Amino acid sequence: MTDTRIYLSPPDVSDLERKLLLDAFDSNWVAPVGPDLDAFEEQVAEVVGVRHAVALSSGTAALHLALIAAGVRRGDTVLVPSFTFVATANAVVYLGARPVFVDSTPDSWNVDPALVAEELRARAERGQLPRAVITVDMYGQCADYDPLMEACDRYGVPLIEDAAEALGATYRGQPAGSFGLAGVLSFNGNKIITTGGGGMLVTDDGRVAKQARHLSTQAREPVPHYEHRTVGYNYRLSNLLAAVGRGQVQRLDQMIAARRATFEYYRAALPDLTFMPVAGYGAPNYWLTCALVDGDDRDRLIARLAQRNIEARPAWKPMHLQPVFQDCVVRGGGVSADLFRRGVCLPSGSALTEHDRERVVDAIREG
Ligand SMILES: *Cc1c(COP(=O)(O)O)cnc(C)c1O
Repeated sequence: MTDTRIYLSPPDVSDLERKLLLDAFDSNWVAPVGPDLDAFEEQVAEVVGVRHAVALSSGTAALHLALIAAGVRRGDTVLVPSFTFVATANAVVYLGARPVFVDSTPDSWNVDPALVAEELRARAERGQLPRAVITVDMYGQCADYDPLMEACDRYGVPLIEDAAEALGATYRGQPAGSFGLAGVLSFNGNKIITTGGGGMLVTDDGRVAKQARHLSTQAREPVPHYEHRTVGYNYRLSNLLAAVGRGQVQRLDQMIAARRATFEYYRAALPDLTFMPVAGYGAPNYWLTCALVDGDDRDRLIARLAQRNIEARPAWKPMHLQPVFQDCVVRGGGVSADLFRRGVCLPSGSALTEHDRERVVDAIREG
């Protein structure tokens, strides 16, 4: 194969990140705290429009700490979209709580607000309200927060926003990550911006931020002699990685524009595919372009692209179909099962070239 490999969503780093990283290195801030960490947190808090941001080692760690902030404990239940990456549900299990899965709506592929409201109503009647509701902003598009917040507020259940895929997206003008008690971001290598692994908890609530900061640094009391009143975690992002993040977040608008252009290109060039709908209520960050392909064609398409050295992936396999969660309750499930059966994610990286896009479209058209 002569053509270079086209990845689904590879990192897109520039001289700016390289310089910031080496500056941090040369200044000897090779530590889990430092000036780059503070600066990166400030930048992201501004993008998300919240007062506080706590940089962490992963989005999964941010989910874990957000659920602790919501008061989730052993034996609790938490509503979780079935159509998501496994980390969302795993964080619930870390705390000894049980996820209850909720299906998506075909309109946006996000969690169905009517099903969430119905599940909350039914559980309120039984006196079994969940301790929290997690929403996910799927593939960079916000969930429908007006009805979701209304349902959560009605029953006094805190909402945690898993915006791991959605930095830079908006819902009715309000940035992803700013809904509910706390938002969760990921800077994993495949996300819209990356630190080569990292995450952040974002919130307007000073107590939530303070607790997350405390728990992420082994719950050390502010005294010299290593005093601990609770069990903490080693979840802080390192200053070196934050330096990379500082550069990445400065380029966020450019990355969204590039991913959006790829989405528009695929949509214009491939009119036979059904693309993930863009809901009228907001602006996605176009993290991944995904589409539905009927019948067995989806797997044949992925195989054909692989032969041409192009990486494409099936849409997420819903949590209610995962062996690890086979004992969990699900409300609905048919929509996410269908998205998994027919959904494909196409190469969407912000450094994708015109030639790369043409290769992808040509390979799809051959089928
Ligand atoms: C990537 C992702 C996470 C986990 O983030 P990490 O930084 O990889 O731990 C959580 N939820 C969703 C929806 C994700 O896509």
